[in-house]
Amino acid sequence: MKISQRAEQLEPSVTLVAAAKAKALKAQGLDILSLTVGEPDFATPENIQEAAIKAIKNGNASYYTPTAGIPELRQAIVSYLQENYGLTYKTTQTIVTDGAKFALYTLFQAILDAGDEVIIPVPYWVSYGEQVKLAQGTPIFVNCKESNHFKVTVDQLEEAYSSRTKAIIINSPSNPTGMIYTKEELTEIGNWAVEKDILIIADDIYGRLVYNGNEFTPIATISEAIRKQTIIINGVSKTYAMTGWRIGYAVGDETIIQTMVDIASQSTSNPTAVSQYAAVEALLGEQDTVEEMRVAFENRLNKFYPLIEALPGVRIEKPQGAFYLFPNVKETIAICGYENVTDWVDDLLEEAQVALITGEGFGSDEHVRISYATNLGILEEAVDRIAAFIERKRKA
Ligand SMILES: *Cc1c(COP(=O)(O)O)cnc(C)c1O
Repeated sequence: MKISQRAEQLEPSVTLVAAAKAKALKAQGLDILSLTVGEPDFATPENIQEAAIKAIKNGNASYYTPTAGIPELRQAIVSYLQENYGLTYKTTQTIVTDGAKFALYTLFQAILDAGDEVIIPVPYWVSYGEQVKLAQGTPIFVNCKESNHFKVTVDQLEEAYSSRTKAIIINSPSNPTGMIYTKEELTEIGNWAVEKDILIIADDIYGRLVYNGNEFTPIATISEAIRKQTIIINGVSKTYAMTGWRIGYAVGDETIIQTMVDIASQSTSNPTAVSQYAAVEALLGEQDTVEEMRVAFENRLNKFYPLIEALPGVRIEKPQGAFYLFPNVKETIAICGYENVTDWVDDLLEEAQVALITGEGFGSDEHVRISYATNLGILEEAVDRIAAFIERKRKA
C-alpha cells in the first residue's frame, strides 16, 4: 500500500529520534550521556501528583470530558493569564489540548488552506514546519542572524511577506536558542502583524523559565490590538515538569478556538481526564516548586555555559531562558576535520558516547543543540568527553 504524499514528505522529529537512539544504545549497556531531549528531569511536584490521585479515587478520571477541557481547567487558564500577565479572556476563548504540540497542530488545521504561508523564524522548533505542511500550508523560513541574537526583524518579515501569508510564529524564550524578544522588538513585530492582518502564534511555553534577571513579555500584553491578533500556545510540560501528562492549551480568537475544538472532537475527543485535574492544581496550586526548578536550571546554565563556551572553536552567546545551549560549532568541526555537523554529532555519539542534536533539525548546519535539563555531574562529564573527543580528532 502506498502512503500519502504528505506523509511521505514528513520528517520525524529529530529530537525524538536522537533521544530514542541514545536510549537504545544505553539499553545495550553503553555508558551514554544524553543531552538530547527537551524535558525537565524533575519529578512532577507532589501536590500535582496528589490532585491526580484524588481525581482517580473519586471517579472524576473515569469518563470522557468536554472536548475543550473540563470547565475547572479552562477557568484556571483564564485566571492564570489574568493573575500572571493581566490578560483578560473568556473561558470560551480557551481550549485544552493533548500537549502544546497538539494545540499547534490543531491550530494549523483550523487556519490554513492549501498554499497558505506561515512565516517561521530560523532556528525553529522542529515541529513547526512539518505541522504546517501536514495542514497543506507552506512554511516560509526566515534566517535570523546570530549577530541579532537569532531574532527576526520587521525588515526580514516584510521581505518574507506575500498575499498568502496567514501567520507568523514567535517562540520566546526560544527552543533551541534560549533568546528572549524584548518588549520593543515584540511591539514592532506585533504592530506589523496587526497592520498586515496576520495571525501571531505566540509559543510561550518557556515563559516561566528565564534566568539571571532576564524578563519574558508575552506578546499579547503589548497592546489590545496585538492581543486580538494573537493565539497564545502554552502548556504545563516545561514549567511543571509534566511532559508525560500531555496537557497544553491555546487561547485567543473565539472563532479560531471553536474551530480547533471541532477538529479535536473528531480526532482526540478530549485530553486525558486525570491529567486535566492535575493541570488545574499545577496552574492554581502553590508555585514554590516552579521557582525551585527554575533556580536549579539557572545554576546549571551558569556552571555549564562557560564550559561549553571554552571548547575549541565554539561560538555562543549566553541564553536567557528555556534549557538549551545552541552553540555555533562550525569552527570546532573544522578543527576535528569534519565538514558536516551531523557527521560530527554521529561520531561524538559513537566514539565518546555523548548524545547531542544536530542543528539541522532546527534549520542550521553550523550548530548543535545541547539540553542542560539533566544533572550537573552528567553535564560536566559530557564536556570532558567532548573536549577529549576534539583533542583526539585534532591530532588524528
Ligand atoms: C516542548 C515544546 C512544545 C510542546 O510541548 P508539549 O509537551 O506538547 O506541551 C512546544 N513548543 C516548544 C518550543 C517546545 O519546546
